[in-house]
Amino acid sequence: MIDFKKLEKIITKNQKFLLTTHVNPDADAIGSQIAFYQILKKLDKESRLINHSETPYNLKFLDVDNKIEKFDEEIHKQVFNEVDVIVALDFNRSGRMVRMEKGFLKSTKLKICIDHHTDPENVFDHIFDDINYSATSHILYDFIKQAGIAEIDLSVAVPVYAGIMTDTGSFRFERTDSELHKITAELLNIGVNPQEVYDKIYDQSKFSKAKLLGKALESLQLFGPEKEIAYMVLTQENFRQLDAIESDTDTFVNYCLSIEKVRIGIMFIELKDGFKVSFRSKGNIPVNKLAAEYGGGGHLNASGARLFHKRMNDYITEILNRALNYL
Ligand code: 5GP
Ligand code: MN
Repeated sequence: MIDFKKLEKIITKNQKFLLTTHVNPDADAIGSQIAFYQILKKLDKESRLINHSETPYNLKFLDVDNKIEKFDEEIHKQVFNEVDVIVALDFNRSGRMVRMEKGFLKSTKLKICIDHHTDPENVFDHIFDDINYSATSHILYDFIKQAGIAEIDLSVAVPVYAGIMTDTGSFRFERTDSELHKITAELLNIGVNPQEVYDKIYDQSKFSKAKLLGKALESLQLFGPEKEIAYMVLTQENFRQLDAIESDTDTFVNYCLSIEKVRIGIMFIELKDGFKVSFRSKGNIPVNKLAAEYGGGGHLNASGARLFHKRMNDYITEILNRALNYL
């Protein structure tokens, strides 16, 4: 059980907040950040919203007040000590802030984490987490409801809905239950338009994204004696040719699991500096443990790792072989 009373006290007692989320943010990351900001705004608190990554173009509609800033070492040098509280949303390891990590760790201000992943790192003063939640946005919904701290109007309902919809794979992953659908029903009653939110997030892609998916599918391979692993590889060359960006790869890895017999899906994405691996699994295969072998983490069935300064080609075979141990 999350101690919502404690979270409420922290909000009431303080005035200035810095809200941040993880690198390459998804809709739950931005959704929970915006929902939290909207609550603070209703309570007349001040907030800065700063992230390592730029907000992906399909999520910009959530940032209605255009509050999110992309981190800049020069401009934001002082910000970690100018606020009363730093709030980490939808992640629990400081490395996920990338260039913001240094300033975060050095800051003497109160640091809190609100999240639904396993194994939080010991770098926060207070952790409000529970892995039974479908999304960080879902935690915030429960918090606002239980604390009665502010009204849940459309400005909160839309980002919360976006976070829940995407983190549940549009209401099909494990945490989708009747309770969650009751919450969704309430959000719709408040005025959320599900067609519109889905369309903005998934069906307004740049042409380059569809072409990149083509490249990813072309690279698809099966691996292992029983062909239970499927993997895809995207190189920097692919991104350059199509003028595509990392966030365009969101959800591609799921195609690996759509193949018969496949129980682990892996996508290798070459970055400008190093590479990223996304892991997905079916049943109780703990790909978060596999990701942790490479310094990453995540959920039982969806996890990832980023290996900076490493060459992707040196690792593909090794990671595939390591994955075999989890079948
Ligand atoms: P995705 O593959 O969609 O980027 O991420 C899937 C899940 O894995 C997300 O819940 C995310 O939090 C987690 N994840 C992805 N990359 C990393 C990483 O580099 N480190 C950690 N700790 N978790 C990650
Ligand atoms: Mn999440």
